[in-house]
Amino acid sequence: MNKDGLPPLREVISTYGLQAKKALGQNFLTDLNLTGKIARCAENLENSIIYEVGPGPGALTRGLLMNGAAIVVAVEMDHRCIDALKDVSNAYAGKLDVHEGDALKVDEQSLIGDTGEKDIHIVANLPYNVGTALLVKWMTSSNWKPWFKSLTLMFQKEVGMRIIAKPKTKAYGRLSVLCQYRADCRVLFDIPRQAFIPPPKVTSCIVQITPRVEASDAPNQKTLEKLVSAAFNQRRKMLRSSLKALGVDPLPKLAAAGINETSRAEELSIEDFCRLASEY
Ligand code: SAM
Repeated sequence: MNKDGLPPLREVISTYGLQAKKALGQNFLTDLNLTGKIARCAENLENSIIYEVGPGPGALTRGLLMNGAAIVVAVEMDHRCIDALKDVSNAYAGKLDVHEGDALKVDEQSLIGDTGEKDIHIVANLPYNVGTALLVKWMTSSNWKPWFKSLTLMFQKEVGMRIIAKPKTKAYGRLSVLCQYRADCRVLFDIPRQAFIPPPKVTSCIVQITPRVEASDAPNQKTLEKLVSAAFNQRRKMLRSSLKALGVDPLPKLAAAGINETSRAEELSIEDFCRLASEY
């Protein structure tokens, strides 16, 4: 038994026959000290509702609950994990609410319901196949500040590097702009491949994203999203050519924003993108 009175994760995986499914991006953590360390990165657990995507056999869920999370609301797509999670719900009566479903499709706020005075923090070891899509879903929220106070997420390291990348680097792209223009983003630490069953091909990392208050001159979110996609879809081309995909002559827009028409997407700062989006 572990400190929380529940069996070790390896035993849970074997008892419930949870052989990892690649199609569901399953790489399970088994060390509660490690998941406790991840959980403690989210501030003020005792006063927060944690929204977790993909609890799987429950390693991170247990780390969160052992470290005092008031309530964990989790969405898991794999029916096989639901029974294993019932044991965790029983050990933490009234604190764990598990829903079977696809996190890409759920309306998180109606799932979580009334939060009272509590903040919501998202903490998850995301399935690698839908991790980026989920991040984009959360970061392109039309209301900002959004319904969550912070995101503490595990990604493949390469994705983490794209989130925090600066201009004029290979990793700088759509994800960097969409995350950094409205939030502070940092990589907290790496997680080695060996921490998982089965071990993934690459190192992972924990990224923390904290939304900022939206500036009064912030561009329209949808416009920025379209602009950034068009610019980085053809990142080697000059903007005067790649931005034609938006269906409007880009030259007057670039001139009005004070951006050289021969620049390429990766040369533009986040502020440049915001200024240019405001011209569209
Ligand atoms: N949190 C567990 C851990 O740290 O060991 C499991 C993490 S595993 C990388 C990702 C989990 O997300 C799996 O349990 C998988 O079944 C689940 N999952 C995959 N796609 C999902 C989706 N679209 N919605 C909800 N859960 C999903």
